[in-house]
Amino acid sequence: MDLRVRALETVLARKGYVDPAALDVLIDTYQTRIGPRNGARVVAKAWADPAYREWLLRDGTAAIASLGYQGRQGEHMVVVENTEAVHHMVVCTLCSCYPWPVLGLPPTWYKSAPYRSRAVREPRAVLAEFGVRLPEATQVRVWDSTAEIRYLVLPRRPAGSEGLSEEALAELVTRDSMVGVGEALPVPPAAASSQ
Ligand code: FE
Repeated sequence: MDLRVRALETVLARKGYVDPAALDVLIDTYQTRIGPRNGARVVAKAWADPAYREWLLRDGTAAIASLGYQGRQGEHMVVVENTEAVHHMVVCTLCSCYPWPVLGLPPTWYKSAPYRSRAVREPRAVLAEFGVRLPEATQVRVWDSTAEIRYLVLPRRPAGSEGLSEEALAELVTRDSMVGVGEALPVPPAAASSQ
């Protein structure tokens, strides 16, 4: 795959269709400047601000853009909220569609054929492999990304996080929890005792 991509890039560059320097800037931007910390700020704000949470679930694109996160692969954002009753997880069965402005570039496993097929066929088994074990009563919903719509999971707020600042809350939000294959981190004892 690596060789194929390099061969394709070489041909496109030789024909003058793409500028290798522009590609490098794009990759660097999404790899180092934009990443899951953006999504973590969105989640932390939703946990801390009920009005923002309501807006985020109603119009994810606008609520996320209000924090400055927008652009390609994030033009149509849908945010789904995990609760005790329902657990959401996200896949792109066709390829690797992923919400770049809030999560950066997709991890390798997200693009792998096993994840893409098994997430819809046996989501609970996949979740267990990621360390997420849900009660039988919790419904699992799997969202298949499309060329247009990208999903962000609003994970459940960790117990004991009531007094934390938005900044401290964002530290508990992992990339995997926003794809729905993980949960937010527990509140560290030091933070809990300093409330
Ligand atoms: Fe895709």
